[in-house]
Amino acid sequence: VKEKGKAHFQFYRSDMNSIINNVVELETYLRKAIERNELTLYYQPQVDLLTMKIKSYEALLRWKNQELGHISPADFIPLAEDTGLIIPIGNWVIETACKQIKEWATKGKTDFKIAINISPKQFQQHRLLLIIRTAIEKYRIDPKLLEIEITEGAMQDTKDTAPILSGLKELGVSISVDDFGTGYSSLNYLKQFPIDVLKIDKSFVKDVHSNEKDAAITTTIIHLGRSLGMEVIAEGVENAEQEKFLLNANCQKAQGFLYSKPLPAEEIEKKFMK
Ligand code: C2E
Ligand code: CA
Ligand code: CA
Ligand code: CA
Repeated sequence: VKEKGKAHFQFYRSDMNSIINNVVELETYLRKAIERNELTLYYQPQVDLLTMKIKSYEALLRWKNQELGHISPADFIPLAEDTGLIIPIGNWVIETACKQIKEWATKGKTDFKIAINISPKQFQQHRLLLIIRTAIEKYRIDPKLLEIEITEGAMQDTKDTAPILSGLKELGVSISVDDFGTGYSSLNYLKQFPIDVLKIDKSFVKDVHSNEKDAAITTTIIHLGRSLGMEVIAEGVENAEQEKFLLNANCQKAQGFLYSKPLPAEEIEKKFMK
């Protein structure tokens, strides 16, 4: 579609891929996604490798549009970041996750955290701390039940990020570094920022049991995190070989299809909260 150029552009409702590939068109749909109730959060368990108990759930966005069907966050999050839509969408995620924590707390389920993804762009709004604090207060939830997952990109801009992270830390919210080792890493930020958790990216975990370099990188991240008093979690765990490696390497937590794919809240309740 792209090669044809704008003048010859024509959409067919059946050709959904071309819509998804056309950012302008997709943006129009995404702009309306919140008000049309098209967004949901799915939850994926994060398990303690020693006890096999679920310690937390990561909230992951899902978007289903009537015409387009399901659109992957890998496709629409970058677009949302480029267009600024990540701000209202990110706020919706914060609000919805806090509401869910409240709902589960009302049912007596408070022995796990909910981790939400915060894009680097969201740190550029100075109100981020206020928005998170307001949602915590509105639903009267324990801030200790909330964790935020940030990427290395967020920590490049120290000026914006540092006060927000220390404010969150003061509240009792925990902070996890997502996709650790894949961004513009500077070990310096592990010193500067109040980080609680390191998340080993799934690209390192994929062949950890068979590839020497992945094994070395993973082991090193686990040592680094543990020596700094941080918790370490591996993502993308799909099989028992990976799990065994991680357990032997002293990794505390794991997340991946081996345990569960991300599921809607009602299914999480049915499956894991009986
Ligand atoms: P991420 O934060 O690194 O999330 C992990 C991704 O790995 C999720 O993809 C998850 O479904 C997937 N995954 C989980 N277990 C496995 C496994 O065992 N094997 C493999 N191959 N994959 C696994 P998903 O849900 O498609 O999300 C993709 C990315 O979109 C996320 O990567 C995150 O960067 C972004 N994203 C999702 N939800 C949000 C959100 O609410 N806010 C922001 N800012 N970004 C989000
Ligand atoms: Ca994440
Ligand atoms: Ca990740
Ligand atoms: Ca990732």
